[in-house]
Amino acid sequence: MFSTLTEKYKTAVNKLILLDYDGTLVDFVPTPERAKPSAHLLNTLRTISNQPQTEVIIISGRLYFDIDRFLGVLPLNIIAEHGAMVKENGKWKKQIVDYRLWKQSVLPIFNRFALTCPNSFVEEKEYSLTWHYRNAQLESGHEHSRELIRALKDSARSYNLRIIDGNKIVEVMNNDIDKGKAVKKMLKQNEYDYVLSIGDDQTDEDMFCALSDYSNTYTIKVGEGETFAKYRVKSVSEVLNLLEQLSK
Ligand SMILES: [Mg+2]
Repeated sequence: MFSTLTEKYKTAVNKLILLDYDGTLVDFVPTPERAKPSAHLLNTLRTISNQPQTEVIIISGRLYFDIDRFLGVLPLNIIAEHGAMVKENGKWKKQIVDYRLWKQSVLPIFNRFALTCPNSFVEEKEYSLTWHYRNAQLESGHEHSRELIRALKDSARSYNLRIIDGNKIVEVMNNDIDKGKAVKKMLKQNEYDYVLSIGDDQTDEDMFCALSDYSNTYTIKVGEGETFAKYRVKSVSEVLNLLEQLSK
């Protein structure tokens, strides 16, 4: 599978590589702030983005300053917070504004769940709220996540919010931002004859789905579960192998 992807890559003229971060370029760790990139990963990304006519974009759900702290040293454009914040040519720009109202209604619900489910915690981003339960006891975390999703339904309806039932997270955000919309915007600005997109989570499915309308796109899902992606790899290390091959 990699050989087709790398061969096409070598002959393409204008290339775009869209990479999710957590669970795709780095393995999951107990707290999001510990998922630092290795020097090797930074080097690989730098080498690829320095190749002619090759644009590498990191597309993540993380807080913009958080992902910037990890990858800001690289001359890459970054799409953060699922598309709510975009870094182009070194400058961060907000893509949307309306978020204060719904947060007032949703935050107390999240905090209640963080209290009742031990070792779970809430992360507040400018445009979204995330409840993380990866450190909670497996069954309790799962049960609480089902309850939380039910508890959020009313607010979601009143404020037009999107509830993401992700990998050991429940996240709420405005309905008009997602990775798919962010990617479609990119594809309108430029013409590419090779688009590679890699991700592991439910939010990456929007990206895979958006790309399925275009030719010369190669979408890769990391790990198990249903997907719109054309290809699948088992782990982060397989992703890193592929990137290394592209960097040669
Ligand atoms: Mg991910």
